[in-house]
Amino acid sequence: MSLDTILKQINGKARLIAVSKNVTENEVITLYNQGVREFGENRVQELKRKSEILSNLDIKWHFIGRLQSNKINQLISLHPALWQSCDSLEIALEVDKRLNYKLDTLLQINSAKEETKQGVDPKNAIEVYKEIKDRCRNLNLIGVMSIGANSDDEKEIKQSFETTKEIFEKLKPQGAIICSMGMSGDFNLAIECGSNMVRLGTILYS
Ligand SMILES: *Cc1c(COP(=O)(O)O)cnc(C)c1O
Repeated sequence: MSLDTILKQINGKARLIAVSKNVTENEVITLYNQGVREFGENRVQELKRKSEILSNLDIKWHFIGRLQSNKINQLISLHPALWQSCDSLEIALEVDKRLNYKLDTLLQINSAKEETKQGVDPKNAIEVYKEIKDRCRNLNLIGVMSIGANSDDEKEIKQSFETTKEIFEKLKPQGAIICSMGMSGDFNLAIECGSNMVRLGTILYS
């Protein structure tokens, strides 16, 4: 789908993060030339590679994948614009300990409660969020991220987005301003449910 069509659907309601994990730097440059400035990668190694090759471009890189502890230092050295995938107090403490600057961060919530997915259990999300806020001075926690339920049943997907949105609302007094949810297959529904940041991959390149 063309970028224009996608932006029309988003209609100014959400920030677009272009996920570039499955494409080369050439596709990134194409989107950049159309005005896209925020990109997401789910592997530290690839984030490093692309951000170095494209270091002359004014790109804000987001990290959206599972962070292995042996990649923490490398991620920190890349100064990502937003770490979207902080998924436990433990990893938050590990990253916080090594940071020498403030890193904007989202707490990832496993709203669909899927075993294969990372993220904190929705019923613990508020507590974990507060604890990270209290204990991690170098993490600037500014919201939540979630992946919609992996289902053909729109009701189930909607339910998972509503769960995330509810938590987001409760965290607003704690400074939460970003609710990152919605991917290629479900971003319109996510926006209807209150997303203000969508992470789109495949749809941008097909
Ligand atoms: C790959 C990925 C996306 C983008 O998925 P598409 O279905 O290609 O749009 C969004 N968020 C995360 C965390 C991802 O890993």
